[in-house]
Amino acid sequence: MKANCISCQAMVDAGSHPRLGDILICPKCDARLEVIWLDPLELDWPADEYEDDDEDEGYDDDEY
Ligand SMILES: [Zn+2]
Repeated sequence: MKANCISCQAMVDAGSHPRLGDILICPKCDARLEVIWLDPLELDWPADEYEDDDEDEGYDDDEY
């Protein structure tokens, strides 16, 4: 199954049996895309898409 990248509109191949929550990488723009719907296949930004945070310092900034 394939869907359009929501960033650059390129076709992103999700394989033959994609599952909800699967993370795909757009081959063209390297965007991380999450499978949010299967019929038709739909992609969206992953919910946990934070800027690169390498450190696990345990910031509790949910409500900042
Ligand atoms: Zn893309």
